[in-house]
Amino acid sequence: MKLYNTLTAKKEDFKPIHKKEVSIYSCGPTVYNYAHIGNLRTYVFMDLLRRVLKYNGYILNHVMNITDVGHLVSDGDDGEDKMVKGAREQKKTPWEIAAYYTKVFLEDIESLNIEKTEIIPKATDNIEEMIHFVNGLLEKGFAYELEDGIYFDLSKFEGYGKLSKINLDDLLAGARVEVNQGKKHPADFALWKKAPKEHIMQWDSPWGKGYPGWHIECSAMARRYLGEVFDIHTGGVDHIPVHHENEIAQSEGLLGKKTVNYWVHGEFMLVDNGKMSKSLGNTYTLQDLKEKGISPIIFRYFCLNAHYRNKLNFTFESIQSAKVSYERLLKEVLKHKDGEQEIPQEVLGEFVQNFELAINDDLNIPKAVGILWTMVRSLEKSKEVYKVLMNMDKILGLGLDRVEGLSKKFIDKDQKNQVTEEILNLVQKREEARKNKDWKLADSIRDELMQKGITLKDTPNGVEICQ
Ligand code: AMP
Ligand code: ZN
Repeated sequence: MKLYNTLTAKKEDFKPIHKKEVSIYSCGPTVYNYAHIGNLRTYVFMDLLRRVLKYNGYILNHVMNITDVGHLVSDGDDGEDKMVKGAREQKKTPWEIAAYYTKVFLEDIESLNIEKTEIIPKATDNIEEMIHFVNGLLEKGFAYELEDGIYFDLSKFEGYGKLSKINLDDLLAGARVEVNQGKKHPADFALWKKAPKEHIMQWDSPWGKGYPGWHIECSAMARRYLGEVFDIHTGGVDHIPVHHENEIAQSEGLLGKKTVNYWVHGEFMLVDNGKMSKSLGNTYTLQDLKEKGISPIIFRYFCLNAHYRNKLNFTFESIQSAKVSYERLLKEVLKHKDGEQEIPQEVLGEFVQNFELAINDDLNIPKAVGILWTMVRSLEKSKEVYKVLMNMDKILGLGLDRVEGLSKKFIDKDQKNQVTEEILNLVQKREEARKNKDWKLADSIRDELMQKGITLKDTPNGVEICQ
């Protein structure tokens, strides 16, 4: 398996530290608001990486943190804590804000078929580790104390900028006038902030009451849950120049060695070819898409059509065509499920092999989806193809197995596209209700479908649509 490593700027053979186990750290969400579709693209990428590793037989130890303190409005040391700002604007406490948006985030990723990582630690549950880390940096001479906090001393760390290929002098030349004039270098960053009395989120520390800087959170949690050296670190490309450079400085400063073997970054999602921003009103959430008839799985399918290292431009037009394409795929999958033809094993084997080559070539998922489409279209309808499709869907996570309980007569005679996502979800819910003997719910779903012009018939071969 090959992965592109931002650190070496090369596609490399992936070799884990331990033979069968892979340790991964993914920067998780800052839970002060709903995740937008750009954020979610990055977690779809994280999920694809997980699935490809698992497909290759690795056991994962994967951490994705929840940032519920310390991420300031700028990625550096300027501005307010996003959590505190969010709390004030929404007239809640930061803890209420964190609990609510964490819950919604976990629901969002579940609806996108993104597997939960093995460990999901909260920053606020790891304050002790962070204090310990900062102490270690002070003892080793990598940090200094100012009136308002503890700062990392970049002049003591060789190799700052190796991830983003910048050097400290360039940073100095381009630096803005800094808020904190006491810093030795404008790029020195806060490890710990001393909190004024009125600051809501604060903890005791050897330097008085305060709260951690955002970057130290990831270094401390990675060390606690994954150990000193681990295999893969992921995040969006915006994290390369500040957040991840700072993580490297902290972790390598403290431990005196390289701590991450592969840095893997997902490119940005654009909207109408531009940046997503609150002021433009285009930071769409999954809920916004649902209101326009776009389900989370269709959004996932849309994401799979671009390589994770390429920008992906979202428009409502392009997501609509993804919807049409996805529903066409479901229909084809259903036809294969009930297909009677025999397909030679060599023919199927070649498709599988090409699919595996694609996913193992730095997660070339768009190519893999193309191979799946060619297989679905070019081969006669066959149960064997269906089996291969189910296996491919372990990587893609498109919920193709939802056609399982359906008869091919579910697609009506005029070939109107009945296998829509929405209808499929309703049929599935009805099946579950029937299994749970919740006849009332099952009947109400049947009525809802009837209002959409769909009358169901339950047969031994699965659910049919009455003609
Ligand atoms: P945050 O909650 O702001 O820390 O961001 C969560 C994740 O989303 C990070 O990994 C970011 O790199 C990523 N991200 C932010 N904006 C975008 C975008 N427009 N497209 C893709 N990923 C993004
Ligand atoms: Zn992080």
